[in-house]
Amino acid sequence: MTTPASGLACIRCGAPPVVHWTRRLTDDEFAAFVALEQARRDLATALADPQGPPPDFGPLPVESDNARSVYACIDHSISLDAAALVHAKTCTAPPCNCTPEPAPQPEPAPDPVELPPGWSDA
Ligand SMILES: [Zn+2]
Ligand SMILES: [Zn+2]
Repeated sequence: MTTPASGLACIRCGAPPVVHWTRRLTDDEFAAFVALEQARRDLATALADPQGPPPDFGPLPVESDNARSVYACIDHSISLDAAALVHAKTCTAPPCNCTPEPAPQPEPAPDPVELPPGWSDA
């Protein structure tokens, strides 16, 4: 199986993917991600002007900020509804064996404006 030009491949068979969804990073992936970020900050600190204030990077990333894309071909896809959600780091989809995170709540609809008598369509 050759890798598609895009570099993306089905998680199961390596075929060119047609769908994707996201899952949280595993502990190992997240540790590597934080280590990379820390190394980047260490380098920036080392290169910073010693006369100036130290660079302020803010807090390190947290797990809930990060998700990884999972790609699948037509034979190894999951349902559209499931693909719309963020899956757990332990998810082995396909087939999905986790409880995906709930979808974000939609914005509540604004209260209808009360119109003066005679202004409504009804
Ligand atoms: Zn596949
Ligand atoms: Zn899942």
